[in-house]
Amino acid sequence: MTKKVCSFCGRGENEVKLLITGLNGYICENCAHQAYEIVQSAGLADEEQHNGGKENSFKINKVPKPKDIKKYLDEYIIGQDEAKRFLSVSVYNHYKRLQQPVDDNGVEIEKSNIIMVGSTGTGKTLLARTIAKMLDVPFTIVDATVFTEAGYVGEDVESILSRLLQVADYNVAATERGIVFIDEIDKIARKSDNPSITRDVSGEGVQQGLLKLLEGTMVNVPPKGGRKHPDQDYIHVDTKNILFICGGAFDGIERKIAQRMNAHVVGYNSVQNVSKIDKADLMKYVQPMDLKSFGLIPEIIGRLPVLTYLNPLDHDALRRILVEPKNSIIKQYEKLFDMDGIKLEFNEDTLNFIVEKAVEYKLGARGLRSIVESIMMDAMFEIPSKRTKSFTVTLDYAKAQLDKSHLQKLETA
Ligand code: ADP
Repeated sequence: MTKKVCSFCGRGENEVKLLITGLNGYICENCAHQAYEIVQSAGLADEEQHNGGKENSFKINKVPKPKDIKKYLDEYIIGQDEAKRFLSVSVYNHYKRLQQPVDDNGVEIEKSNIIMVGSTGTGKTLLARTIAKMLDVPFTIVDATVFTEAGYVGEDVESILSRLLQVADYNVAATERGIVFIDEIDKIARKSDNPSITRDVSGEGVQQGLLKLLEGTMVNVPPKGGRKHPDQDYIHVDTKNILFICGGAFDGIERKIAQRMNAHVVGYNSVQNVSKIDKADLMKYVQPMDLKSFGLIPEIIGRLPVLTYLNPLDHDALRRILVEPKNSIIKQYEKLFDMDGIKLEFNEDTLNFIVEKAVEYKLGARGLRSIVESIMMDAMFEIPSKRTKSFTVTLDYAKAQLDKSHLQKLETA
């Protein structure tokens, strides 16, 4: 029997700890280690890592079903059923598309980017963030207001991808199937529906840049983000499979909707079936053409085929938001106090008072936190040093605290 030796260094079986058998030879642990280092220094290992995720690492039966996604969202977000259903389906389909088999009959599922319309503080970002928590694809939130046309001070649209790359730990394959939430998309709207008259170049230029990304294109991304630099090595990212979810308040879009429905905000009585139209909540009738009247270019609208809306939050919704979500503001304060061994309680009428103030200040759900913060500031400062074991926030206490806070000054200003 021939003696086994490492085909690279010639050491015999008894001179090494391990001899790995190949087709026509052997390699010892020392040479295997050296070979690994050579691969590393040639930069090939990284490349492999980046491209290695190309095949799908998840199976569709492991992906949460739309109903499961919605159920999860229900734990954190009050109401907004319509938006939740649309998002759940779109995200589920996004996973399906990523796994679609190469089909002989030429059916290729295309992606359906989403646009959510709803006034500020109604939960658009919260929806996006909550979905991100349950997904195993890279996810990032970007603000459309930072984008300017190339050459101006600000960020290029492409910088969206550097953020996604960072989140994905520079794994290009993972980045290419990520989800991006673009907030405040309405802020890059053209100021007029008519491109030839008041041409608002920067808005349109940014939209054109964004369009390329939404359509699917190969983008050269500077790895560290920021401005492009001629000496930098770019990372090539294909946006074909990235799902874009856009959100915007579209302030004043109700007027466009009303105009379209021939139900002018004043004088809608002329419309015959006006009784069927819910005038208080025109947002739910939003159509792609209203986005166009608002100033989004038709090409962008065409690339955001799923259009959904969020309801304004009324008294009831705000009351529920205060206490019900898994992560509700009241639960967070209870936890803060609990960590000092103090049981915190809010009287019912205190909670109602907080909601009334939020409605009054027109701050939506965003206002709830500032109001509770103002009410609780003194207590949070003093109580940890006392020997108190419990603290109840009564209506009188809440009123007195809010009266001396800056929020009250805001109201009287
Ligand atoms: P938007 O993006 O629509 O302007 P956000 O999602 O940032 O609004 O909401 C602001 C805050 O208000 C959130 O952090 C959350 O605490 C609260 N909030 C808004 N809408 C809801 C909702 N429907 N359910 C629970 N909390 C909400």
